[in-house]
Amino acid sequence: MPDLSRPSGPRIIAIANQKGGVGKTTTTINLAAALVESGLRVLVVDLDPQGNASTGLGIEISDRNLTTYDLLIGETPLKDVIRTTGIEGLCIVPATVDLSSADIELIANERRSFLLHDALRQTDMDEYDWDYVLIDCPPSLNLLTVNAMIAAHSVLIPLQSEFFALEGVSQLMMTIRDVRQTANSELRIEGIVLTMYDKRNNLSQQVEQDARDNLGDLVFETKIPRNVRVSEAPSYALPVLQYDPNSQGAQAYRSLAVELIRRHQRLAA
Ligand code: ADP
Ligand code: MG
Repeated sequence: MPDLSRPSGPRIIAIANQKGGVGKTTTTINLAAALVESGLRVLVVDLDPQGNASTGLGIEISDRNLTTYDLLIGETPLKDVIRTTGIEGLCIVPATVDLSSADIELIANERRSFLLHDALRQTDMDEYDWDYVLIDCPPSLNLLTVNAMIAAHSVLIPLQSEFFALEGVSQLMMTIRDVRQTANSELRIEGIVLTMYDKRNNLSQQVEQDARDNLGDLVFETKIPRNVRVSEAPSYALPVLQYDPNSQGAQAYRSLAVELIRRHQRLAA
């Protein structure tokens, strides 16, 4: 008898916010690294044509022959697009600018919104034994982001601790609701994480207060501080957890991973 008390396969989380520069990619890379550090196995899917997650995890452009584009549009099997990174237990499907034409190329494809869903449910997924799949979304609510939301169990929303941060969240929530009603009724909100938080800045505190008042328990207790080590790490093609393991940024992402894992243990209990 299979064990029905636990959902099989990895937990798939879309990291999304249609605003650019709010910390999606940084959160994807560093949350992945923190989960791996605690002994879990993680796949990152780079779904942004900018390919920042791929660069940040050390996959050179010249080394991206097969990418998310091939996975979605070329029907290339998952096993052929996965790359290992320098970190044991952490793999990535890299992206290049090719992916930016996906919207147009897929217009006539009836399953265009389900391509990532289908790709991540190929039978060879079972062989990899990942605990988490983190999808780094582009800064838009386009077909790629919808693919991520249909493929995922949940959406994790980074919220930059800046003026206008909450603007746009209601639009994002509406998109999540649409996806639930049409294609993925199980889609949950994993949580909202405050990024680039500066405790000396009143504005950061105000954004935190507004977020907690409006979004309640959805907001993670962990806040990611603005930390120069976090912004330096990608130019060394490393997560901050490797680049400067004792930095405040690294510690915050470890704490976010602990909170995330705890939430899931509670869900599974
Ligand atoms: P997005 O993927 O949402 O566009 P990024 O993760 O690329 O956003 O972050 C935007 C910029 O902010 C990047 O230059 C990144 O290095 C920087 N950044 C992100 N998080 C932090 C942080 N906690 N402290 C300092 N800089 C950060
Ligand atoms: Mg990004």
